[in-house]
Formats: sequence, C-alpha cells, structure tokens
Amino acid sequence: MAVHARGQAGGIGGVEGAQHFGGFCRGVHHPIINHMAAETTLAQAQTLTGAPTRWWTKLSDGRLRCDVCPRECKMREGQRGLCFVRGAADDGVVLTTYGRSSGFCVDPIEKKPLNHFLPGTPVLSFGTAGCNLACDFCQNWGISKSREMDSVASTGRPEVIMRAAKQLGCRSIAFTYNDPVVFLEYAMDIAKVCRAEGIKAVAVTAGYMNAGPREEFYRHIDAANIDLKAFTEGFYRDITKGQLEPVKETLIYLKRETKVWFEITTLLIPGLNDSDAEIISLSEWIVDALGPDIPLHFSAFKPDFRMKDRPATPPETLFRARRLARAAGVRHVYVGNIHAPSRASTWCHACGGSLIKRDWYDILEWRLGPDGGCPDCGTPLPGVFEEKPGTWGRKRQSVRLAP
Ligand code: SF4
Repeated sequence: MAVHARGQAGGIGGVEGAQHFGGFCRGVHHPIINHMAAETTLAQAQTLTGAPTRWWTKLSDGRLRCDVCPRECKMREGQRGLCFVRGAADDGVVLTTYGRSSGFCVDPIEKKPLNHFLPGTPVLSFGTAGCNLACDFCQNWGISKSREMDSVASTGRPEVIMRAAKQLGCRSIAFTYNDPVVFLEYAMDIAKVCRAEGIKAVAVTAGYMNAGPREEFYRHIDAANIDLKAFTEGFYRDITKGQLEPVKETLIYLKRETKVWFEITTLLIPGLNDSDAEIISLSEWIVDALGPDIPLHFSAFKPDFRMKDRPATPPETLFRARRLARAAGVRHVYVGNIHAPSRASTWCHACGGSLIKRDWYDILEWRLGPDGGCPDCGTPLPGVFEEKPGTWGRKRQSVRLAP
C-alpha cells in the first residue's frame, strides 16, 4: 500500500439522486426532480451489484424495503433508494458503494467539529457518495448527492484505510463528507479493523436512522458529531425532506445507551431556523434531554446548492445564538465557519477560566490539568482528553491511497 499526500483537498463533482424523491415534492415543478425521474427509469432497467446488507424486509408484493433509515424505501429489483447507493438486487438490498471512496483528507479533529475529543489530533477523513436527507442547503452536495461514483471512486478496503491512518499518524478516522448512515456496513467494517489497531472511529451524521441499525452502528463508533438541523418538524419536512423526531431519538439513544462521545452542530440559516424562540427551545431540550455538558456548535450557512437566494449567516446571529444557548444552560457553545477565536475556545463553565484557546483549528494555549480539569477551580471538562493536545494545527492534507 502506498500513501500519497498532497497539499490541499480537492472537490468531487456530482449530481442529485433519489428514487422516491418525487413523492416528497408532488405537484412542485422542480428541474432536479424531473431529472431524477429519468434516472429512475434507467435504474429500473439496471441490474444492481454491491455488498449484501442486513437491514431489509421482503414485502408481500415482492418489493424489498430498506430498513436502515426512516424513509424505508420500497424498491423493486433494479431500483435504488432515495440515497441512491442502496438498491434492490435479485436476492436482497445491496450497498453499491462498499469499498469505494470519494476522497481522503487528513483534517484537524476540530473541523468535524469535535472540540472535546482528542483536541489537536489529525483525523483521516473520507466519504463515499449519497445521502438519506435531501437538504436544499446542502453544503457538501457534490459528494452527498453524487451519482457519479464510477468516475470519482478510489478503492478503499478497510485494511488499506486503517494502514493509511496509521502511516499518517492519525488518531482516528472520520466518516464524513456524506452521511455514513447510507454506507454503514462499510463504515462498521473500517471501524472494526481500526479499533483493533487503537485507531478511533468518528461519525459525522444527521442521525436519521432506525433503531436496529443505529444500535449496531454505534457499537463501533467512538465519537460523533450529530447535525441537529433545526428544531421544528416543519423545517425538517420542507427543507430536508426528513423528520426531526428520529434525530432526537438518536441523540437520546447516544446519551442514555452508549459511551460514544458526541457533540451537536446546528447550521443557522437566516430566516429559517435562527429565531430566538427556536434557538431557546433547541437549547432547553438539549439541557433537559441530554444534559448541559453536550457541546453545541452553531455554524454559519453559505448560500449553496438549491438555496442560493439566502444571505450568509451574519456573525452576530451566531453570537446571539451562543448567548441564548448559554443562558438556557448549555455549558459549552461554539461558533463555526467564521473567525471568532474567543467563541471557538473552551472556557470553564464554573469559574470562567480559560481551558483551551483556539484560533481557527490551532491550539494556542492548553491549560487543562493532568486529570482533565480546570487548573483554577478543579471542575472537570467533559470529553475525551489526554495529558497534552495533538500538534496537527489547522492543516488539511489530501491523500491518495494506492491499494
Ligand atoms: S438508507 Fe434510507 S434512503 Fe437509503 S435506501 Fe435505505 S431507507 Fe432509503
């Protein structure tokens, strides 16, 4: 195996994809959906190949229902689900992207974002293609909506990825760029071989999945950043074509049933999910249901994909959200996608002392005691810490794996 590192990450191109997508938007004229209808016809004529999967049910009418996420796509042979990467073969639902990646990059762990999980360490990040949500504002749509896996895929056997992570000095690998829910069998196989070698697994996900696969998936995951996209069912229904309730269930499951360290990110979109009332109710729910120690990241939206008509999030909106969340009792609230060093730094919630000072992803000062607590008052900082932080800094390094 050879690992080739390059200076900066490159982008991957792609298009939208969904089998059942037309159903959400019935009666709405949408050029992407028209495009998808044509793709559906093509998919029906294809024989799908891929890795066998476990979570599906054969229905009495002969269709196969994928049980991975609440969409529960029902497919005839040759059809694909909304995520486009799981589809019905003659003997079951298959994952068409097993072993294939849309690219690798070594990132700072803070970029996931995770501020309380092995700060300063490098994480080997990668994704495949496809997504089980259909957010109008997707900030990563070139990968998450890709139907062009054949032209962008590089091979990525689990052992090759694990060895690359080791060789590159990464403490963890991250399933990111697109949601690992749609490729969970592949993600779990990678996580297993990595864990055996002491490399941790990180999931960056919207948390939109059913209970059975969720339980098995998180057995192999050490840390996660869960995208809580808004706090109304209306937003989830209209903007993501999903539902809020299953995401809340995932968060509660993680808190009550697992030892996975997790943090939450909410992308604030002007006029859609940034009202005082919504931020307060989201924050109060976090404190009540998950406790005050779950870090919350508010990040800035940039006009993209099918939402180019909204302005970028003003920094003041992020600062206001941070104030409101802290007033509601969330102890560690960060802002992201903008340069705001003091609001990206970690402070002791009890005495206000500085614990970790950051400038973007650079750690400028580390004041955690050897026991992971505040050196001034001794209050423990929740998270996964070592005596010293990593020294990776803000670098990004793209990586090409040769099998
Ligand atoms: S993962 Fe979700 S979107 Fe993809 S096929 Fe299964 S049920 Fe459908």
